[in-house]
Amino acid sequence: MSRPIVATINTAALRQNLAIARQAAPNSRVWSVVKANAYGHGLDRVWSSLSDTDGFALLNLEEAILLRERGWKKPILLLEGFFHADELEILDRYRLTTSVHSNWQIKALAEAELTAPLDIYVKMNSGMNRLGFQPEQIGNVWHKLRALPNVSEMTLMAHFAEAEKNEGIIAPMARVEHVAEGLECPRSLANSAATLWHQQTHFDWVRPGIILYGASPSGHWQDIAGTGLKPVMTLTSEIIGVQNLKQGDGVGYSSLYRASGEQRIGVVACGYADGYPRHAPTGTPVMVDGVRTRTLGAVSMDMIMVDLTPCPQAGIGTRVELWGDTVKIDDVAGAAGTVGYELMCALAPRVPVDVS
Ligand SMILES: *Cc1c(COP(=O)(O)O)cnc(C)c1O
Repeated sequence: MSRPIVATINTAALRQNLAIARQAAPNSRVWSVVKANAYGHGLDRVWSSLSDTDGFALLNLEEAILLRERGWKKPILLLEGFFHADELEILDRYRLTTSVHSNWQIKALAEAELTAPLDIYVKMNSGMNRLGFQPEQIGNVWHKLRALPNVSEMTLMAHFAEAEKNEGIIAPMARVEHVAEGLECPRSLANSAATLWHQQTHFDWVRPGIILYGASPSGHWQDIAGTGLKPVMTLTSEIIGVQNLKQGDGVGYSSLYRASGEQRIGVVACGYADGYPRHAPTGTPVMVDGVRTRTLGAVSMDMIMVDLTPCPQAGIGTRVELWGDTVKIDDVAGAAGTVGYELMCALAPRVPVDVS
């Protein structure tokens, strides 16, 4: 028998989550964001469950080429654009839509020899100060790009830094409105949070990512609990050891937890080398045999310890859910001071994956 840890990918949940994203923005087309190997779920594993989408948005040429080789004919958007001018030949060959966020990319597009013009997304910096042209540059950039024979359809793109907050979109939306006034162009602005919570941001294409995988863009599961979104990844393992503690006994490295009395604990085959967050403190929620309990002490590379007080029937071989349908990844991430995004992306290659 192999080590009992496994990540299960629920493809029905993926389909359902895409349908929910679509219902949230019924008049927009949907870029399903599958960067970072589909947020750690495995692009090759999940893309066909999302094939109702209008397009896939990602970063790596390798991922884009994989989708084309699997037969995906509809649009693919490179969210960070091309990184070197010589990649334009590949964008041309595979018909990839690219974001354009810097002047050198305009020059490269002007000088490239393509077989047919490319669709582009002109990226505006709407206040996040990550990628994109300043609002006052957009008019000029737009007209330069519009004049290039290598450029076909143009869309204005921006990204929100704080769309999970009610007021978070006000200033960036004002900047976008101001710029878009004279251009009369298609727009793509909305990430998951804006797709769910800010209808006025939807426009032509929305770009949901995290909600497709069934976690909350705010980091709080309660914020999406009523939407029908369903966790896609379930990480399970088993108890492989049991210890009976006496008062004062320490647990794990640095004895970060000490028993205040007699206590039965289980040892779970899952550690930070599997992608479980090392910063998860004592008290992080975990399901053992269908009962909610808590972790105890430090997370080690290959194991964590859990409190068996609420589940005395549990023993070696008992199933443990680290996150999934019942323990939400948002809750584990919150306890560990991070977000569901990071935990999904950090699922380690050594964890076997089942597709259901
Ligand atoms: C990652 C990303 C998204 C998706 O963000 P979520 O919060 O996962 O919905 C959308 N747009 C851009 C530009 C991104 O980089």
